[in-house]
Amino acid sequence: MNVSHRFAALASTGVALTMAVTSQVFVLADAATASVAAGKQTQQAVHPLAGAAVSTQSASANKALATKNRIYRTGRLTDVNCSPGALPSGSTSAYKRFLTRVTNCLNKAWGAQFRKARLPFSKPRLRIITRKVNTPCGRWSTGADGYYCSSNRTMYMLITKKQLRQPFPLGIARLMAHEYGHHVQQTSKIWSYYWTARNSAGRSQRLALSRRSELQAECFSGAFMSTLRDGSQFSDQQWDYTVDWFRKNGAKAWPQNDHGRGPTQAAWMTRGYNSGAPGSCNTWAASARSTT
Ligand SMILES: [Zn+2]
Repeated sequence: MNVSHRFAALASTGVALTMAVTSQVFVLADAATASVAAGKQTQQAVHPLAGAAVSTQSASANKALATKNRIYRTGRLTDVNCSPGALPSGSTSAYKRFLTRVTNCLNKAWGAQFRKARLPFSKPRLRIITRKVNTPCGRWSTGADGYYCSSNRTMYMLITKKQLRQPFPLGIARLMAHEYGHHVQQTSKIWSYYWTARNSAGRSQRLALSRRSELQAECFSGAFMSTLRDGSQFSDQQWDYTVDWFRKNGAKAWPQNDHGRGPTQAAWMTRGYNSGAPGSCNTWAASARSTT
């Protein structure tokens, strides 16, 4: 989740070429820094579901929640005519408005998808912060710009001084859509399998499960971003730059391979973006090779 944060920051630096200079992984909204990765591990360690006592048997029974979830059979995401508007630099209120509008778009688009799947849906809470806070899922990850905590179903979006100075709307939207992707996983119960399976997994298996979860959130993000592609929010060039940035830098911030290699991240982003449909984001049924 946190990788996406850095990306946003980078994106916010303005135009694609200038982004390369930025140290932040966030590119589009936020990429990921090492500190972010460390924070994320902390978060997962204290995840409430992770601590639940669940038998191995129920873990295997739950697997269909991830591999055959009804959300995969809902076709393309609805184009909700999302237009969060411009994001001028230096205005916290404009920044907050942008985050709120993107969240509203995500609520509409995914709400329709859950209706199609006949799955119960609830919106996440959005908490916009200007300094790091503790969450029920643990301490704020150092370096993270966004965070989803499933135990209170809250997306935390951090407005940093740097992003405020040079907001990159594409990157910020991409990050929010990634965090929202985790909310989709939580609400559709895909995460019921994930957190249960983690409980009985060894270290390398835990990393593999984390990659499937993160790559799916990134693919869900790409599917949402595709609904914005014909608007005035960003250009094809900016999108291509973003994907390329992740290909080269997406894994750099993480000390362990819990998000997938850069090319793998880029592949799932692109997959979601090209299809526009959550059905293309079934990382749980994908080969181990395509989720490395
Ligand atoms: Zn994530």
